Amino acid sequence: MISPLSLQQLQGRFGGELVNGSVQFERVCTDTRKIDSQALFVALKGENFDAHDFVLELESAGELDGQVLGLVVDREIPGCRLPQWRVANTTVALGQIGRLCRDQFKGRVIAITGSCGKTTVKEMLAAIFAQRHNPCVTRGNLNNQFGLPMTLFGLCADHDVLILEMGASGPDEIGYLCGIGKPQVSAVNNVMPAHVEGFGSVDAIARAKGQIYTGLEVGGTAVVNVDDGYANYWLDQMPEGVHTLEVGLGHQCAISADNIELTESGCPSFDLVVEGLAHLVQLQLLGEHNVHNALVAAGCAFAAGVPAAEIASGLGGLGGVAGRMQELKGLSGAAIIDDSYNANPGSVAAAIELLAQRHGRKILVLGDMAELGPDADAMHREIGRLARERGLDTLFTLGPLGAAASVAFSAGRHQPLHNYRERAPLLAALTHELNENTTVLVKGSRSARMELVVQALTGND
Ligand code: ATP
Ligand code: UDP
Ligand code: MG
Repeated sequence: MISPLSLQQLQGRFGGELVNGSVQFERVCTDTRKIDSQALFVALKGENFDAHDFVLELESAGELDGQVLGLVVDREIPGCRLPQWRVANTTVALGQIGRLCRDQFKGRVIAITGSCGKTTVKEMLAAIFAQRHNPCVTRGNLNNQFGLPMTLFGLCADHDVLILEMGASGPDEIGYLCGIGKPQVSAVNNVMPAHVEGFGSVDAIARAKGQIYTGLEVGGTAVVNVDDGYANYWLDQMPEGVHTLEVGLGHQCAISADNIELTESGCPSFDLVVEGLAHLVQLQLLGEHNVHNALVAAGCAFAAGVPAAEIASGLGGLGGVAGRMQELKGLSGAAIIDDSYNANPGSVAAAIELLAQRHGRKILVLGDMAELGPDADAMHREIGRLARERGLDTLFTLGPLGAAASVAFSAGRHQPLHNYRERAPLLAALTHELNENTTVLVKGSRSARMELVVQALTGND
């Protein structure tokens, strides 16, 4: 926090009720098992616990060491003497506290959303700004109504730029997060069928992500990836007074990429062309899709005032993002590409593309893609077909949906179907395939826990 806040300030700005007076605080926490000194405790309700159940024991502990100064609660806590801000919804209150922290910040604020690549773009921006600035960046993947306020609580007086990842699994969530984070530069990285179940359709996803642009105030900049099929949809509804900065592969864009080449292992190099001048970028990240991510990151950094040469050197300096296409040494000399962090049809297609241009034998190990709605089978089938068309040697799938992918992959070929319901038999079969001439790319939705497959294939289980 840049300067202390008080319960009275919060109540004055957002309503609710003060109980047992006000108190100033500089830290916020939400877990009684991890309390910071001098903190305000916000009692949230989750799937397993209601933190209101723990606040009385917190008070008695707090009396001993003064750790908890006050509470945010949604009901009376009989016998509790701590100062409290009583509100209708403590999750909303968490965001409101974040909003006041945001209001204290005078530096530039950049926000990124999209179906995939948000964390990658965020890490690219962090690498660009870290060269000459002190950025405050969304930690890990804390990109929702809980994580975003947490990032804002971490703002300090010496931060000079704020980089926010915004995720959504339903309509209006991005608008809500923009109301808290108040970005001045915004980008939708792309739209793909991810979390379709929460939105209803891909059009609805595009509409929901577009709130990151409509949430900009006059003078803000919308960075638009014109290679995305929804670019014109967003450009058509851009609020008056918002600047647009187009990025994409075509030369008509303010920022584009030229002369894209891949190293033998699959890391792209390209000329980053900014207003007609080219700056060579050699990424240390695998996969051509990272050129698109780099263009969006470059657009955001440029809109926030970073010179083009500095953007190029920052992009080249980023070593890798854990679980996102990281090349590791596997058992028996095989190359393992760990892309286990997550999967949707778009990111699996990007992974197949990367694997297709590797030398030697190419094996894709795919855990089920979750949350795809009624077309889930068809989308898995399409992935199997694409893997076959791009010449992969073997497809291993884990989970019931993977059967459709395996059948499409093997259609008309006398090959065993490598679809497994359990990890152990998949690993037993896969281990025989490992050798120095083989690359294995491991990918799947979070729920498939494919990092356990990576650990086994690299001897770290
Ligand atoms: P989440 O919604 O889980 O926060 P995210 O949007 O932050 O995801 P990343 O964590 O950066 O995305 O990447 C997730 C997966 O998508 C990784 O497997 C990565 O390789 C792949 N990916 C990243 N960028 C792209 C892209 N532009 N096109 C296709 N796939 C991509
Ligand atoms: N919580 C807590 N003390 C505990 C257990 C939970 O303060 O001993 C908090 C937790 O930090 C969270 C809330 O209670 O803010 C709800 O917990 P739950 O585990 O249900 O949340 P979720 O799994 O949704 O994160
Ligand atoms: Mg992310």
